Amino acid sequence: MSSPFDISPLSTWGGSKKPLIIAGPCSAETEDQVMQTVKRIVAASDKVNMIRAGVWKPRTRPNSFEGVGAIGLPWVKAAGNAVGLPVSVEVANSGHVELALKNEIDVLWIGARSTVSPFIVQEIADALRGVDIPVMIKNPVNPDLELWLGAIERFTQVGITKIAAIHRGFSTYEKSTYRNPPMWEIPIELRRRHPQIPIILDPSHMGGTREQIYPLSQQAMDMGFDGLMIEAHMNPDKAWSDAKQQVTPERLGEIISELVVRQPHLPDSEYHTLHELRAKVDRIDDYIVEMLAERMGLSEQIGQFKKEHGLAIHQSDRWAAIVKRALENGKTGGLTQDFILKLFQQVHNESIIHQGKVMGK
Ligand code: PEP
Ligand code: MN
Repeated sequence: MSSPFDISPLSTWGGSKKPLIIAGPCSAETEDQVMQTVKRIVAASDKVNMIRAGVWKPRTRPNSFEGVGAIGLPWVKAAGNAVGLPVSVEVANSGHVELALKNEIDVLWIGARSTVSPFIVQEIADALRGVDIPVMIKNPVNPDLELWLGAIERFTQVGITKIAAIHRGFSTYEKSTYRNPPMWEIPIELRRRHPQIPIILDPSHMGGTREQIYPLSQQAMDMGFDGLMIEAHMNPDKAWSDAKQQVTPERLGEIISELVVRQPHLPDSEYHTLHELRAKVDRIDDYIVEMLAERMGLSEQIGQFKKEHGLAIHQSDRWAAIVKRALENGKTGGLTQDFILKLFQQVHNESIIHQGKVMGK
């Protein structure tokens, strides 16, 4: 039986260049804006291998610019043809799918506000039954991995195998330096469970500002993500949507050329140093656990003593002295106070459990 996550490798649809870099304006505004932006992007970097532009825009409030609609689809396709690259747009219902397919859009993406709705995801998936087109699924706005995976599964179930997940961060009520905080543990868990699903980072919607595009993109490379989707506009300050986070095509080119792309694997011979270092780390980790076990043995002897002398388990002056010593030693070793405090709180808790066991006997 095939897995519910039967997914084709990215190389079968995302081109041979790694990482997959998708760039283009947040929104298609005019025929000329799309064409000029795309031509300048390709002139600024030969590493861009797909174009993006939204024609239907899911905006927070009504009466703001909600996209030019279907009229923009031929503009996007023409710009892609002019530079010889595939193009992608967001679809949010079956009508959008029909129009996108009619206009020969190469790749579709599902927006974060659609991924949250199983009804709409299923409607889009049903409209794609029997169609061999790649689909990229943004994470839902809320931090729910199961909902993200469920949306992906709805597409694999109708026979779509060319799939990528786009990590664009998650909404929060609290103020944050991010427009949508990354919550990296969520894509990391996605990768652990389904390593075959390519993950693309969208630093534009995650950061929400131009300045955050480069560091977030580099972080994605450091974490072994498969690609980036970056918003670029011929005149970002005048963009009709997401002006603050769009970069010029030329800045995009600089960002891409500054990225350090890490290798997912090395030749076996070069692993040698890493293996040696990891073996040392393992030995130290074994030693730490052995020492902790020995320490808890002493705690039990202390518990026995306290029991015989009718002494309470916890003595706050002793605990204060332990913390003080540890913080001083930690400082010498270049360890943060926060780390030492948390570590010793855990050690102390475990010690109280061991002493309690002895005293309860
Ligand atoms: C977009 O890519 O332009 C967009 C609307 O993104 P998201 O769905 O991540 O908010
Ligand atoms: Mn946008």
